[in-house]
Amino acid sequence: MGIISPKIPSSNTQPAAIEGKTKKRPTVDLGACTKCGGCIEVAPQIFRFNEAVGYLEVIDANYYDEGLVDEAIRDCPTSCISWDS
Ligand code: SF4
Repeated sequence: MGIISPKIPSSNTQPAAIEGKTKKRPTVDLGACTKCGGCIEVAPQIFRFNEAVGYLEVIDANYYDEGLVDEAIRDCPTSCISWDS
């Protein structure tokens, strides 16, 4: 009977890219936000209203749906959503 070596995982293993998702993070200029709720209608999994502090916030996530964020950016009446650089 031979010796079986354990498999050692490769150190350069990267998570597979998720189609349509990005690690870029959307951001909101709170000074310009009118709290109209449009972005929450478009992407409730990305934007929410924080009742405790009274302003809109981006929900923490590892990946964001690029198409939904772009749609929220296009639809925002005060153009206060952008991609964080
Ligand atoms: S759509 Fe724009 S103005 Fe309206 S709540 Fe969202 S960020 Fe604020």
